[in-house]
Amino acid sequence: MTEPSLHETDPEIHRLIDAEATRQREQIRLIASENYVSRAVLEATGSVLTNKYSEGYPGRRYYEGQVNIDAIERLAADRACALFGADHANVQPYSGSPANLAVYTALLEPGDTILGMSLTAGGHLTHGWKVSATGRFWNAVQYGVCRDTGLIDYDEVQRLAREHRPRIIVCGATAYPRTIDFPRFRAIADEVGAFLLADMAHIAGLVAGGAHPSPVPVADVVSTTTHKTLRGPRGGMLLCKEAHKKAIDRAVFPGLQGGPHNHTTAALAVALTEASTQAFRDYSAQIVANSRAFARALEAEGFGVVTGGSDNHLVLIDATPRGITGKPLAKAMARAGLVANYNNIPFDPRPPMDPSGVRLGTAAVTSRGFREGELEQVARWMGAVAGAPDDTTTLERIAAEVRDLCAGFPAPGLHTSA
Ligand SMILES: *Cc1c(COP(=O)(O)O)cnc(C)c1O
Repeated sequence: MTEPSLHETDPEIHRLIDAEATRQREQIRLIASENYVSRAVLEATGSVLTNKYSEGYPGRRYYEGQVNIDAIERLAADRACALFGADHANVQPYSGSPANLAVYTALLEPGDTILGMSLTAGGHLTHGWKVSATGRFWNAVQYGVCRDTGLIDYDEVQRLAREHRPRIIVCGATAYPRTIDFPRFRAIADEVGAFLLADMAHIAGLVAGGAHPSPVPVADVVSTTTHKTLRGPRGGMLLCKEAHKKAIDRAVFPGLQGGPHNHTTAALAVALTEASTQAFRDYSAQIVANSRAFARALEAEGFGVVTGGSDNHLVLIDATPRGITGKPLAKAMARAGLVANYNNIPFDPRPPMDPSGVRLGTAAVTSRGFREGELEQVARWMGAVAGAPDDTTTLERIAAEVRDLCAGFPAPGLHTSA
């Protein structure tokens, strides 16, 4: 007797997964933190490795039966070290947020000072924002960007570092469209005797592919997600100098986590192999070329472009010059098959629930083969949506055109379902 398939066991969930595959196929995914993983990464993620418990580290586990798991975790960590040139890699963090928590747990005492980028300027919750545990258990001081340029205010970082003597400085962002000057952060950290954590969650794929300078040579610890531009499974990873290896490993397990997600570790190992290829280097270069073309085209449609352009996978626009705010624009775009998120812009006068901006990313669409011409078309559609956000006929016409365009650009991984 064969075992029942998902379709037989749970038709409701099966139908929803299928519907999501269709949505991912037929819509243009512009959420900057999202991507399409390969079929190979999906296969490893959906494997029997999910059945295994393996608290501890390779060769030092608390359960027996680790012969295959140890080999998998060693491969993932070795590939991470080779790809990024790191001394040590911990591939067990469940995601980017727990990875950052592990760094603070490893290097700080409760109440120590964190100097991180403010959420409203483009930083992440886990860089010390007040509603985050990181802003409650540690004393967070926050830097931002320059009002006139939208670029990180390195002078302010230095001034705040001198004034507050943080134990750690965090650089890296979640809504910042420009190159981050990691050596500049290192110099400031050295001046005040602080650790430097570089959170490359958004840009890890660009770093791997040589399209953004690497923080690995200068940071004490580098944290990252594995599912954004890096195009791996949902997860987190820490890279660090030899000197911090013990503290980092102990903070992840047993400090914060129990058993690692071995199916994710295996899928990460696969993604790291994919990210080591010339094809991936070409992919990361194309991401940046696409963002630049997209930013220019959006400006031509009358949107404001924060910092005037992009050096990475991300474009942050101010919708208000087009007479619309972020939330209604993002909602209307979604009806037209263009999926993004409304986002505050630096020094936004509007409230977080309906800010001025929309955050856009090119990582997912570049994975399905979009180039500059397709991004220019997306910008024209966005211009049309901004001009008629309540016009169902316009939105439905664009949604149909979006489906037609997407049909010519099959996305990685999606041919395995539906
Ligand atoms: C996405 C992100 C994280 C958190 O990742 P999760 O996997 O969502 O927990 C951390 N830092 C930065 C800069 C991010 O962009």
